[in-house]
Amino acid sequence: MSNCLFCKIRDGQIPAKVVYRDEVCMAFEDINPQAPTHVLFIPLRHIATVNDITQEDRETVGHLYTAAAKLARERGHAERGYRLVMNCNEDAGQTVFHIHLHLVAGRPMKWPPG
Ligand code: C5P
Repeated sequence: MSNCLFCKIRDGQIPAKVVYRDEVCMAFEDINPQAPTHVLFIPLRHIATVNDITQEDRETVGHLYTAAAKLARERGHAERGYRLVMNCNEDAGQTVFHIHLHLVAGRPMKWPPG
Protein backbone atom coordinates (compact mmCIF):
# COMPACT_ATOMS: atom_id res chain seq x y z
CA MET A 1 0.00 0.00 0.00
CA SER A 2 1.67 3.18 -1.21
CA ASN A 3 0.40 5.55 1.48
CA CYS A 4 0.55 3.18 4.46
CA LEU A 5 2.78 4.42 7.28
CA PHE A 6 3.86 0.94 8.35
CA CYS A 7 4.54 -0.16 4.75
CA LYS A 8 6.84 2.86 4.58
CA ILE A 9 8.57 1.80 7.81
CA ARG A 10 8.88 -1.73 6.35
CA ASP A 11 10.50 -0.26 3.22
CA GLY A 12 12.84 2.04 5.17
CA GLN A 13 11.17 5.21 3.84
CA ILE A 14 10.22 6.31 7.36
CA PRO A 15 12.72 5.74 10.18
CA ALA A 16 11.93 3.43 13.08
CA LYS A 17 13.95 1.68 15.74
CA VAL A 18 13.74 -1.82 14.30
CA VAL A 19 14.34 -4.58 16.86
CA TYR A 20 13.48 -7.67 14.81
CA ARG A 21 12.93 -8.72 11.20
CA ASP A 22 12.50 -12.02 9.39
CA GLU A 23 10.88 -13.15 6.15
CA VAL A 24 7.33 -12.77 7.51
CA CYS A 25 7.28 -9.94 10.03
CA MET A 26 9.22 -7.11 11.60
CA ALA A 27 9.12 -5.31 14.93
CA PHE A 28 10.01 -1.78 15.99
CA GLU A 29 9.82 0.34 19.12
CA ASP A 30 6.54 2.28 19.41
CA ILE A 31 7.22 5.99 18.89
CA ASN A 32 4.98 6.84 21.87
CA PRO A 33 5.66 4.06 24.37
CA GLN A 34 3.00 3.29 26.96
CA ALA A 35 5.26 1.08 29.10
CA PRO A 36 8.98 0.35 29.52
CA THR A 37 8.63 -2.15 26.66
CA HIS A 38 6.27 -1.16 23.86
CA VAL A 39 7.09 -2.84 20.57
CA LEU A 40 4.90 -3.22 17.47
CA PHE A 41 5.00 -6.43 15.40
CA ILE A 42 3.73 -6.08 11.83
CA PRO A 43 3.41 -8.53 8.96
CA LEU A 44 5.55 -7.52 5.98
CA ARG A 45 2.48 -8.08 3.81
CA HIS A 46 -0.05 -5.26 4.11
CA ILE A 47 -3.25 -6.30 5.93
CA ALA A 48 -5.39 -3.30 6.92
CA THR A 49 -7.37 -4.56 9.91
CA VAL A 50 -8.15 -7.74 11.82
CA ASN A 51 -11.35 -7.87 9.73
CA ASP A 52 -9.18 -8.44 6.66
CA ILE A 53 -7.29 -11.47 8.01
CA THR A 54 -8.08 -14.54 5.88
CA GLN A 55 -7.49 -18.27 6.31
CA GLU A 56 -4.32 -17.81 4.28
CA ASP A 57 -2.96 -15.39 6.88
CA ARG A 58 -3.25 -17.81 9.81
CA GLU A 59 0.43 -18.72 9.79
CA THR A 60 1.44 -15.07 9.46
CA VAL A 61 -0.70 -14.00 12.41
CA GLY A 62 0.55 -16.89 14.52
CA HIS A 63 4.08 -15.86 13.57
CA LEU A 64 3.51 -12.37 15.02
CA TYR A 65 2.59 -13.97 18.36
CA THR A 66 5.57 -16.32 18.52
CA ALA A 67 7.95 -13.50 17.56
CA ALA A 68 6.43 -11.23 20.22
CA ALA A 69 6.59 -13.93 22.91
CA LYS A 70 10.24 -14.58 22.03
CA LEU A 71 11.16 -10.90 22.42
CA ALA A 72 9.18 -10.72 25.68
CA ARG A 73 11.19 -13.68 26.98
CA GLU A 74 14.47 -12.14 25.82
CA ARG A 75 13.64 -8.90 27.64
CA GLY A 76 12.81 -10.76 30.84
CA HIS A 77 9.05 -10.20 30.81
CA ALA A 78 7.89 -13.83 30.61
CA GLU A 79 7.59 -14.47 34.33
CA ARG A 80 5.76 -11.30 35.42
CA GLY A 81 3.83 -11.14 32.18
CA TYR A 82 2.96 -8.79 29.41
CA ARG A 83 0.09 -7.75 27.16
CA LEU A 84 -0.34 -8.49 23.45
CA VAL A 85 -3.09 -6.49 21.79
CA MET A 86 -4.28 -5.73 18.28
CA ASN A 87 -6.80 -2.91 17.98
CA CYS A 88 -9.44 -3.14 15.24
CA ASN A 89 -11.08 -0.03 13.84
CA GLU A 90 -12.42 3.08 15.49
CA ASP A 91 -13.93 1.92 18.78
CA ALA A 92 -10.76 0.02 19.67
CA GLY A 93 -8.61 3.04 18.83
CA GLN A 94 -6.85 1.74 15.72
CA THR A 95 -5.00 4.65 14.13
CA VAL A 96 -2.69 2.90 11.65
CA PHE A 97 -4.43 0.63 9.18
CA HIS A 98 -1.76 -2.04 8.77
CA ILE A 99 -2.28 -4.67 11.46
CA HIS A 100 0.17 -4.52 14.33
CA LEU A 101 0.49 -6.52 17.51
CA HIS A 102 1.40 -4.32 20.47
CA LEU A 103 3.79 -5.93 22.97
CA VAL A 104 3.38 -3.90 26.16
CA ALA A 105 5.38 -4.89 29.25
CA GLY A 106 7.42 -3.79 32.20
CA ARG A 107 4.71 -2.42 34.49
CA PRO A 108 1.50 -3.78 36.06
CA MET A 109 -1.57 -3.21 33.89
CA LYS A 110 -5.26 -2.87 34.63
CA TRP A 111 -8.17 -4.74 33.12
CA PRO A 112 -10.52 -3.88 31.47
CA PRO A 113 -8.69 -1.37 29.27
CA GLY A 114 -10.24 2.08 28.95
O1 C5P B 1 -3.37 0.37 17.68
P1 C5P B 1 -3.05 1.72 17.09
O2 C5P B 1 -3.35 1.79 15.61
O3 C5P B 1 -3.67 2.86 17.85
O4 C5P B 1 -1.50 1.88 17.28
C1 C5P B 1 -0.70 2.65 16.45
C2 C5P B 1 0.61 2.79 17.14
O5 C5P B 1 1.60 3.19 16.21
C3 C5P B 1 0.61 3.84 18.26
O6 C5P B 1 0.96 3.22 19.49
C4 C5P B 1 1.66 4.85 17.79
O7 C5P B 1 2.40 5.40 18.85
C5 C5P B 1 2.51 4.01 16.86
N1 C5P B 1 3.27 4.72 15.85
C6 C5P B 1 4.65 4.48 15.74
N2 C5P B 1 5.37 5.12 14.77
C7 C5P B 1 4.79 6.00 13.96
C8 C5P B 1 3.40 6.25 14.05
C9 C5P B 1 2.66 5.59 15.02
O8 C5P B 1 5.19 3.70 16.51
N3 C5P B 1 5.54 6.63 13.04
